[in-house]
Amino acid sequence: PLIPDYLHEVLAAVAPKTSGEIASYIPELATADPERLGAVFATVDGEVYGAGDVDVEFIIQSISKPFVYALALSDRGFGPLLDKVGVEPSGEAFNEISLERDTGRPRNPMINAGAITAHSLAGPEGLRAEERMERIVQGLSAFAGRRLEVDARVCASEMENAHRNLAIAHMLRNYGILSEDPRGVVDGYIRQCALLVSTRDLAMMAATLANRGVNPLSNEQVVDQAVVRQVLSVMATCGMYDAAGDWATQIGIPAKSGVAGGLIGALPGQLGIASFSPRLDAHGNSVRGVSLFERFSSDMGLHVMEVP
Ligand code: GLN
Repeated sequence: PLIPDYLHEVLAAVAPKTSGEIASYIPELATADPERLGAVFATVDGEVYGAGDVDVEFIIQSISKPFVYALALSDRGFGPLLDKVGVEPSGEAFNEISLERDTGRPRNPMINAGAITAHSLAGPEGLRAEERMERIVQGLSAFAGRRLEVDARVCASEMENAHRNLAIAHMLRNYGILSEDPRGVVDGYIRQCALLVSTRDLAMMAATLANRGVNPLSNEQVVDQAVVRQVLSVMATCGMYDAAGDWATQIGIPAKSGVAGGLIGALPGQLGIASFSPRLDAHGNSVRGVSLFERFSSDMGLHVMEVP
């Protein structure tokens, strides 16, 4: 009873913030309602508390990255993944065309270069593109605890404007990090990013990470604990792109943002948190989402470096 009141109060406190811009580099995203606002807490015991637009669907975008990285680690093993995608914070924007100097390896799986590579490594080797996509939809659905669907319009709109991601994929193909047709991989990556989720779904996905890879409501073990540790570590260091250091010091919760305005945080052994508000700051992180997490972290003492 206390937490819902608290969530309503914090939502009301950040609601007047109307700074930031909706992402428009994908035309279909620009049609989103900028006023949407929601937040959900999902505990590892399966309690779910929400306020605001908790069941409105939006596009997962980059929040798919940690989960697809988890599936790739789970399906291929750590060695093969680390050979192709590093774990060093890049301190660069999400769509930077940057690869490690000599190897051509993307610096981490949270920037597009690494996420496109991780997409290509989901599922066992030798899958056809549709089979790999089904593995990803099935895997992310298991994290959420319900079957997720792709938004075909966003997908088409993003594919028409994917020159930058195509450039990245061609670079990856040049270095042999990708071993298949770059266009097909980008097409799959864009589909993965166009999955529809609600704030409630994202909180459950985060709670599954917080709960050692077991969805707290379905009790399904989606990935094992070693994979979760790897994913949360990478979220903690790289999840907020070029704002990762500010986030780590001020908020201190392993997190991931998406350009449609979603934001997740996962506290191991405690809870998953998600928020939704479409206007973004200069790093591509939700303005009101960052404010919400600032409040959650300080009001409830959630910074992982702080003794509770
Ligand atoms: N699909 C988007 C892109 O590749 C994801 C970006 C994001 O959410 N930061 O540009």
